[in-house]
Amino acid sequence: EFVRRHGVRFQLGVAEHFSIAALKQQGFKYIFLGIGAGRARHLKLDQGEDRVLDALNFLQNFRQNGDYKLGKNVAVIGGGNSAMDAARAALRCEGVESVHIVYRRTRTYMPADKEEFDAAISEGVRFHELLLPVAFSGGRLTCQRMALGEPDSDGRRKVHPVEGAFQTLTIDTVISAIGEQVEREVLEKNGLRFDHQGRLVVDPATGETSVENVFIGGDALRGPSTVVESIADGKRAAEVIMRREQIEPDVLPDFRQKFDSQQRLIELRGRKGNIVPFNAQDHHQEAARCLACNFVCDKCVEVCPNRANVAIAVPGFHDSYQIIHMDALCNECGNCETFCPYSGAPYKEKITVFWTEADFLDSTNDGFYLMSRNGSFDFRTRLNGTIGTIQLDKDGKVLKSTYKENSPEFNAFLQILKTVHGQHSYLLPESSS
Ligand code: SF4
Ligand code: SF4
Repeated sequence: EFVRRHGVRFQLGVAEHFSIAALKQQGFKYIFLGIGAGRARHLKLDQGEDRVLDALNFLQNFRQNGDYKLGKNVAVIGGGNSAMDAARAALRCEGVESVHIVYRRTRTYMPADKEEFDAAISEGVRFHELLLPVAFSGGRLTCQRMALGEPDSDGRRKVHPVEGAFQTLTIDTVISAIGEQVEREVLEKNGLRFDHQGRLVVDPATGETSVENVFIGGDALRGPSTVVESIADGKRAAEVIMRREQIEPDVLPDFRQKFDSQQRLIELRGRKGNIVPFNAQDHHQEAARCLACNFVCDKCVEVCPNRANVAIAVPGFHDSYQIIHMDALCNECGNCETFCPYSGAPYKEKITVFWTEADFLDSTNDGFYLMSRNGSFDFRTRLNGTIGTIQLDKDGKVLKSTYKENSPEFNAFLQILKTVHGQHSYLLPESSS
């Protein structure tokens, strides 16, 4: 309605006749394609007679009809938010007794948001990692067992099949949630070119395709993307079109240049602990009481009665302050979990500093303790549940490590370890020798 009120006219139901040439003939000089990526990727499965549904269709029908006959046991294939949605919706269908999410990598590499995954698990969805479905027939879903391999260019570990290892699940319906893609044929039919790697040829500065004055943006250009990115694509194309028509766009200022996040952080930290009385008349004073929790949270630090969560500045992170949990100070009261606005459980989930080996072994938290400091500093560590050791010199250089990986998780863990070691060694026990 907002767009319509600005004078934009809508013509609905024209998708199947979509033709750039016809639109140009009708007098449309510039065209922006925001057609999304609505085609489900094909799940390669020796399918047999059994039912395989596409997650988006299933969710759409579920929303309209509120029910679906899926049988007793359902498998959802995929690791994104659509897979979590489909699994939770399937749980609500009449007659369904068990829902399984089957994913070929591990939990660490799943694209689904943590809260979506946690919600699915807490509702009773069962999670199977390192399984690749290969056949579905006679109510049996056969999955190839996979193993993690070397990291790829973006740091995610590749997977490879474990020879001769399979697992079978008893399943009535499979829901495929392995992602969506753009309708490539539609674009090709309209003369848009793709490169040899199958990527659409687009001017990165303008979003213009290989067809003059035809722009593209959003999921159709990027694959699954955010609303913000899609809006930015549309805005960029609109500005280019206006300039070509000699209209100077009245662009909004670039707030990023004016927003000094470090300065904001200092200002907000200065507000904490200052009790400023409520003043209904002075709106500036009232606004200045805001602690901007959306920008810097630290709730778990403030609500802990034992000061068992600390925020320290760690270089290289998007959020410059990271929460470190101090195991020895925590009595597991659960306060930080209650107050975390992101449904987190900081005392279980944050990188944890342990003071003794017994405490370390008594916990499942990822974290570390300082075993000895004889010239070098030897840490016993747990990352993604795997126990190892990392030896640092006094300047934080890694001398030895049992970890071979170079994943983003490992690098983040190492950065936190080095920062505690180098700048916050008061958090470590003094007596390690
Ligand atoms: S659970 Fe531990 S860290 Fe969380 S508030 Fe309680 S004592 Fe503090
Ligand atoms: S763990 Fe939760 S409470 Fe603590 S800083 Fe993060 S979002 Fe805030």
